Formats: sequence, structure tokens, C-alpha cells
Amino acid sequence: MGYEYDFVVIGGGSGGMAAAKEAARLGAKVALFDFVKPTVHGTKWGLGGTCVNVGCVPKKIMHYSSLLGAGLHDAAYLGWQLPSNVQHNWETMVDAVQSHVKKLNFSYRVGLRSNKVQYINALARFQDPHTIAYELKNGPTQTLTAQHILIATGGRPTVPADVPGAKEYAITSDDLFSLQTPPGKTLVVGGSYIALECAGFLHELKYPTTVAVRSILLRGFDRQAAAKIQEVMVAQGMNFRFSVLPTSITKNEATGKLHVALRNSETNETFSEEFDTVLYAVGRTADTFGLGLENTGVVALPNGKFDTVNEATNVPHIHAVGDVLQGKPELTPVAIRAGEYLVRRIFGNSTKTMNYDLVPTTVFTPVEYGTIGLSEEEAIARYGKEDIVVYPWEFQTLEWGAVHRQKAESAREGDYDIDFPANCLSKLICLKSANEKVIGFHFVGPNAGEVTQGFAVAVAMGATKEDFDNVVGIHPTDAESFQALTVTKESGASWVASGGCG
Ligand code: FAD
Ligand code: NDP
Repeated sequence: MGYEYDFVVIGGGSGGMAAAKEAARLGAKVALFDFVKPTVHGTKWGLGGTCVNVGCVPKKIMHYSSLLGAGLHDAAYLGWQLPSNVQHNWETMVDAVQSHVKKLNFSYRVGLRSNKVQYINALARFQDPHTIAYELKNGPTQTLTAQHILIATGGRPTVPADVPGAKEYAITSDDLFSLQTPPGKTLVVGGSYIALECAGFLHELKYPTTVAVRSILLRGFDRQAAAKIQEVMVAQGMNFRFSVLPTSITKNEATGKLHVALRNSETNETFSEEFDTVLYAVGRTADTFGLGLENTGVVALPNGKFDTVNEATNVPHIHAVGDVLQGKPELTPVAIRAGEYLVRRIFGNSTKTMNYDLVPTTVFTPVEYGTIGLSEEEAIARYGKEDIVVYPWEFQTLEWGAVHRQKAESAREGDYDIDFPANCLSKLICLKSANEKVIGFHFVGPNAGEVTQGFAVAVAMGATKEDFDNVVGIHPTDAESFQALTVTKESGASWVASGGCG
């Protein structure tokens, strides 16, 4: 069979872009479709997918903006003479974010062109297992054929259909990063990565922010680390409402305010509150409905994802990477790496497959949380309590201690008897029967993303506790704590530092 293309990619996000460019570099004739369906509020964006436009990139810049604000207190303490009325301007930040995003959109287009990948800005769907149908703006239906096809359509935020007014009035992360007016008083619904990251920067930017959490924070993460994130965010003044969820949202057209009816599922108490913005961050749904899979024989799970081994669907020439994969981390570097390895196997001589274990990740809350490998709970479930040794250590960042960071005035009274709780937790989980090999690494603290990336190499290489101990620390850093973890959890001794060096 002669096909027009060797490889067609549906979805120009992290995984699709990487796979398309790598395939072209390996000599394949490649086309890539990317099309953004606008949100209910009309938000849309350019080439590059979630990470660049409505994910990692704008999120990290807003996180940075919020940290600069938090640093103003420190700056004044350390001698900077700041005007007393320093204010943050939402519109200026959004302009800066969007101008950076547009630069990246442009560079992605150039990247495709210079790699000789044909970019088609259209919504693609399968007409048959080797044929893709699409329409260019206001044009007739066209088709093209390909030998191999990659589904890399990612996901979109989920908004529950059973909360009247939610789909209509709530925004999601797809809208937040280009919001033209300040969000004002905000209700964030959700308790994981996206909810906590967005709530974190909104709060630090001084928007009154409440987080409505269905159950617990950061399900699946180490409980001690999640508790530390919660403790620090509460000390920063974040208002968490546990077991509380909206039951309906209505809009006062005269004031523009959103009237949110809420219910506490523990107590059955119902109440209501007005907000300027409601942000849903309760997970994402794979964007595979409407792809025409029924014309291909490809089987998707009811949630729209694919159960794959080595990124292969049940139809041999149709592959999938990124957020559409069931049970794999929904992270940009994972999608990129899996896409590149896949095409090297298809169009090159490689046999290398993606290793989804020990993928490091960081939650970019105001104090970040980076992790590699197993939580304490997972380690115990997998190996048994007797085979696990846990080394935790809590302390305060030197710089924070020196400038006397204060608890926020809005923090709950009586929670802490010191200015600010220890803002860092360093924790190693080791396997006794394997010479104390490190199977779980957890760091809550400033710049945890940077810290965790470095240690990920050691953990991937199978480092033991002794290997960590044998390395001399860099002083004074937060990360040096990992070179001197001596207290085990089982010893019963305190793992909270009393301050000072050494
Ligand atoms: P995507 O990047 O989502 O790309 C899919 C593309 O396909 C989209 O452009 C979509 O419009 C397009 N498309 C869909 N259907 C069609 C069709 N039929 N035809 C044509 N085009 C189509 N990950 C990290 O590693 N670090 C972070 O800090 C981080 N922060 C995040 C913050 C937020 C708020 C969010 C939402 C996500 C974040 N992520 C982060 C996750 C990361 O963005 C995703 O894991 C990653 O983008 C997934 O890549 P992908 O290639 O699977 O899909
Ligand atoms: P997650 O799937 O990680 O978490 C969903 C959260 O929403 C949970 O707290 C869950 O609570 C709650 N929830 C689910 N359904 C409802 C509901 N109907 N009502 C109220 N709450 C509900 O989703 P996220 O949106 O936070 O993130 C999606 C993925 O994006 C992440 O898994 C991550 O891979 C990626 N991402 C990565 C980032 C990074 O690398 N820094 C940043 C942001 C996203 P419960 O525990 O009760 O189920």
C-alpha cells in the first residue's frame, strides 16, 4: 500500500510535537494536526498543546510572580526600601505570560517547518484505520492517508455535569492564565496538583482564595509530605474547606458575582457564599471522544484513555502517547520521552522502551513539593513495614528564619506557636533488605523542582542511604539536609530541627 505519509500525528502538544520532529529527523514523511476547541468561555490558544499554553509554562510564570510578592517582606527586612503601596497588577502579569506563550507558539511553528513536518491546523478524525479526515477553516472535507498514526490529543479539564451552573459559570485552568480581569475572591474546587498550584499563586497574589476539597489533599502522594504542604499553606493564610463542595452556582447578572451553594458532606450542613470566580480543578478527561475511533477498531477505555504496552493500541499501526494513556503519569517530560522513544523504534533501529517508573515530579505550590518513587504508604504496602526504614527531617529555610517570615494574619489562631512552621521536609524511604536502597525521595521546600531533578539521577541509579551519606553537602542549602539524615521514624526521636548549622 502506498500511503501519502509515513507518520501522521493527531495533537501538537508535548508528546505529538516531540514525536513528529523526531520521526522527520529519522527520514519519515510527517504531518501533524493541532486544533484547539475553545472553552465554554471562548478561550483558545496556539500551537504547542497544554503545557505551553494552559499548563506548565504559564503556571510556572504565575508561580514565580507570586513568589516575588512573598519575597517583598524579605526584601524590606534585608534593606530594600520599597514604597509602602506596592501592588500587584493582574493584567500586566497576564500580558507578560501571554506574550511569552505567543513567542513559544511561534517557535513551535518554526520548529515544525525546519524539521519538514507539515503542520495542519485542523481537527482530525479517523475515516478508516489509515485515513484522517479534516476541514480547514470554512473549507471542504479533505483526507490524507498514513502508514503509522499517533494519537496525542491530551486531555481537557473535567467540570462535573451534576453541579448546576458549574459548566456555565466556572472557569478552569484553560481560562485562568489568559483571564482578562483579576479573578478577585476565588473558590478553587479540587485538592490535587492543579487546584493547589492555582490556589497557591492566587493566594500569594493576594486574591482571597478558598479551596473546597472533596476528601484529602494530594491523594496518592506521601501523606506526611501532603500534610506539610497543608501546614505551610494554612500558615500562609490559605482557607481550606474540607468535605465541602458546591451544589450549584448561579450568577447575579447585576453584580456579576457568583452565588455558590455549598454542602459539607460530613455534617450535611448547607450554606452559600458569593465569589467573583469559581475555578474547577478536579481532574482531566482524555480528549479522544469524537476522534472516530469506531472507524479504526481501536478500543478505548470508558474514560477515553488507552491501555497500552509500549504506547501501542490494539491496532498495530495506531499508537498513543501522553495524557491519553491509562495509568501513566500525566506529565510533559513523560509525553515527550515516550513519543521520541516510540518513533525511534518505528523509524530507527532502537529497541529502547519508556520506563514509567521513578519519574520525578514536583507540585509547584508556594513551597514546592518534589518527589521520586514511592510514598511511605506505598512502600509499606509493597514491601511490608518491617522492611522499610524512613528518615524524615523538618527544618526551616535559613533565609526564611533570618527574615522572620510571619504567619499570615488570616492563618488560623493557635495553629502554631512559632512565627512560621518549619517550611521544609526532607524524607528518604529506604528498603532494609536491599542495603537501604532509596525507594522514595520527598522534599517539601523552596525550589523543590530544582532539588528533586538533581537527586532523581541518583535514585534512578539505585543509590543507597550510604551513598547519600557519603556525599558532602553544599552549605548553606536546604538540599544538604539529604546528606545528613540520621533520625529514623521508628526511633521515636524528634525529626524537627532546632535551628543553626550542623
Ligand atoms: P497536550 O499537550 O494536551 O496536547 C494535545 C493537543 O492535541 C492539544 O493542542 C489539543 O488541542 C490537540 N487536539 C486534541 N484533539 C485534536 C484533534 N482531534 N485534532 C487535532 N488536534 C487535537 N506537566 C509537567 O510536567 N509539569 C508541570 O508543571 C505541569 N503543569 C501543568 C499545569 C496545568 C494547569 C495543566 C493542565 C497541566 C500541567 N502539566 C504539567 C501536564 C502537562 O501539561 C501534560 O501532561 C502534557 O501537556 C501532555 O501532553 P500531551 O502531548 O499528551 O497533550
Ligand atoms: P488529579 O486527577 O490529579 O486530581 C483531581 C482532584 O480533584 C483530586 O483532589 C480529587 O479528589 C478531586 N476531585 C475529583 N472529582 C471531583 C469532584 N467531582 N468534585 C470535587 N473534587 C473532585 O487532577 P488535577 O486536575 O489536579 O491534575 C491533572 C494532572 O495534571 C495531574 O495528575 C498531573 O499529572 C498533571 N499536572 C502536573 C503538574 C506538575 O507537574 N506540577 C501540575 C498540574 C497538573 P479525590 O482525592 O477525593 O479523588
